[in-house]
Amino acid sequence: MTQQAQPILQVRNLVTRIGGKRGFGNAVDDVSFDLMPGETLGLVGESGSGKSMTCLSVLRLTPPAATHITGGQVIFDGEDLLRKTGAEMRGYRGRRISMILQDPMRALNPVLTVGEQIFESLRLHRGLRGAALREAACELLERVRIPDPAAGLTAYPHHFSGGMRQRVVGAIALAGNPDILIADEPTTALDVTVQAAFLDLLKSIQRQDRLGILFVTHDFAVVSRMCDRVAVMYAGRIVETAPTDMLFDRPRHPYTESLLRSVPDVDRREERLYAIPGQPPSVFAPRTGCPFAPRCPRAMDRCRQETPPTRRLDDGHEVSCWLHEE
Ligand code: SF4
Repeated sequence: MTQQAQPILQVRNLVTRIGGKRGFGNAVDDVSFDLMPGETLGLVGESGSGKSMTCLSVLRLTPPAATHITGGQVIFDGEDLLRKTGAEMRGYRGRRISMILQDPMRALNPVLTVGEQIFESLRLHRGLRGAALREAACELLERVRIPDPAAGLTAYPHHFSGGMRQRVVGAIALAGNPDILIADEPTTALDVTVQAAFLDLLKSIQRQDRLGILFVTHDFAVVSRMCDRVAVMYAGRIVETAPTDMLFDRPRHPYTESLLRSVPDVDRREERLYAIPGQPPSVFAPRTGCPFAPRCPRAMDRCRQETPPTRRLDDGHEVSCWLHEE
């Protein structure tokens, strides 16, 4: 990976509130990270840790009836997206920052041909019409390795396998030549070999386009294959960020240690798989101190009273834990 000096995306102290009958809470709680051009940053954590909500907040696509972005900045190309009007945001979504969702069958319209769905994106984001539109659609299908692209345009999603459908979703996401791709568990619905092929394809497109990828997953095998750096999320907060190899070799946050310990290892024969005790806190529960304290094997009195700040350690980790107090 070659990096430019400037990040393509800077998220600073992002807060997204969620509310309903059960109360209010921060689904995204003071989240900050950078994404460089050509880099893949993994967002990992258990379900409900705030990974998807963070991505939706970057694009300002959180459900408007139940959520409200109350603080922070999302700086893309020098502009704060949180200050843009709805009409201005439509110029960014799909064209500059695109998104792939986890279930290709839900992302594609079953009653429209693959071609009609790709044409729609190309018309919207690149203003193409007529023969140029068809040619660009064929090129996109070729890029995502759909055999016989011209025939593929006339097919319906159910004519394709799961892996091919996910590649079509990828083609639609790439239609606007975006700078950033947000991939939210894009391979969860695929079997392992199809998943590997899709990840390799994504990597090769990333190298060609210097695409910055924000990659949401709970699968550490996918993290090691895809990500240059990893941000670990817990209870809406980023608790540790580090280059991928470093995070695997020497996790510094007890939650990251526990997550890695709970990954099955074929070389490690154990009677029982390790499971992190307890449950993540409800987003609506009142918060005091470190949110991981009730489950943390190394919790101290202070952890239950004060929230640890994020510190940058000498080895390049950024970690939010009182064990690493200066
Ligand atoms: S701050 Fe305390 S409770 Fe939280 S992860 Fe660190 S040691 Fe555990």
